Amino acid sequence: MRFELTEEQMDIKQAVREFCEKEFEPELARKLDREEEFPWELYRKACKLGFIGIHFPEEYGGGGYGVLENCLVVEEMCRADSTLGTAIILGDFASEIILRFGTEEQKERYLSKVASGEWISAGAFTEPAHGSDLAACLDTRAVKEGDEWVINGVKTLITNAPIAHFFITLCQTDMEVEPPYRGQTLFIVGRETPGLDVTKIGDKMGIRASPTGEVSYSDVRVPESAVVGQLNKGFYHSLTFFDESRIEIAAQAVGIAQGALDRALRYAKEREAFGKPLVRHQAIAHKLAEMATKVEAARLLTYKAAWLIDQGKLDPALSSMAKTLAGRVAVEVCDEAVQILGGYGYIGDYDVERFYRDAKITEIYEGTREIQLNTITRWMLKR
Ligand SMILES: Cc1cc2nc3c(=O)[nH]c(=O)nc-3n(C[C@H](O)[C@H](O)[C@H](O)COP(=O)(O)OP(=O)(O)OC[C@H]3O[C@@H](n4cnc5c(N)ncnc54)[C@H](O)[C@@H]3O)c2cc1C
Repeated sequence: MRFELTEEQMDIKQAVREFCEKEFEPELARKLDREEEFPWELYRKACKLGFIGIHFPEEYGGGGYGVLENCLVVEEMCRADSTLGTAIILGDFASEIILRFGTEEQKERYLSKVASGEWISAGAFTEPAHGSDLAACLDTRAVKEGDEWVINGVKTLITNAPIAHFFITLCQTDMEVEPPYRGQTLFIVGRETPGLDVTKIGDKMGIRASPTGEVSYSDVRVPESAVVGQLNKGFYHSLTFFDESRIEIAAQAVGIAQGALDRALRYAKEREAFGKPLVRHQAIAHKLAEMATKVEAARLLTYKAAWLIDQGKLDPALSSMAKTLAGRVAVEVCDEAVQILGGYGYIGDYDVERFYRDAKITEIYEGTREIQLNTITRWMLKR
């Protein structure tokens, strides 16, 4: 058993760290958080350096690396800044569905444009009446008319919706089949397709530089070539995608937690109370030690889950464990970081307040904490 990253993986981490040190300005992060704007300039620079789609094959503009290397990028970006990092790493969200299940033509058409930063992707699964319960009969329906599919419905809480160039959309295509999830199909729907409309959802608690929106489909017509993967297998394809994307969210959580810990440790060494630095007070030192222990445990589980996928041994229970643990750790560590900074932790200028708000989403999207626990239990009972 080896617990060391390879030299190449260390170089990737270092390259991302240097990029963030040079380009991420705390003032910019605070401004984009306030104004709920996407960091376009930084995003294009990150794409140019090959950080987005690093896990795509080289023939589609990627770096030819695996899920673990992608997680290293995600972790480092979110460690440097939870708001900027999260917005950037989600720019290619759900394009892995095309990578894993798309036709050669779809991969050529979409993946290089995503990796280069020309196009932003979105994955539209959640509906107003179906969030966790995607296995139900979906209200977004696609009906075949001649050689086209006609889509009607609404998807909500969709990351990147206000800026995305295309939406990978999960639709009900067989309304009769039982159970209903055996009748769902994924479609790529271009932003300019007539009948597609997007409304921005603002005023989020955190990750405010990552835009979110509602997407409505009103007699949206797409050709047969818009189907991703197999007809009526969309639910299964989505689950496989979530098994991978959950690890990416776990890496986001590890990065946010580490970033909050870095800031708390720095502050505890500088700030004095009762004649000595905070870190010399055992109550604070123990907090820091517990935070570091939790972050390390979450990191190990996340790396293992990512590594397993790269070995072709995807373990859905482990993906869920990584996301559950890392999400909880992110929230708890950010909470303690705010506590260590005292009154200043509560003020925006010190950033841990923003990390705290940004951390919470990792326990909600890509399957809530409760849904992950359901998955883990299901696999335990199966084994
Ligand atoms: C900022 C943001 C970005 C998002 N981005 C995307 C995106 O890009 N694409 C997309 O499709 N969706 C996205 N989502 C939606 C997100 O995935 C859903 O909000 C999430 O899956 C939960 O669904 P819900 O909100 O409908 O909650 P519900 O499913 O209504 O759940 C409410 C509560 O009940 C619990 N619960 C539900 N069922 C069970 C059960 N069986 N057992 C135990 N507890 C249960 C849940 O854990 C939760 O605590 C995003 C959400 C947010 C906030």
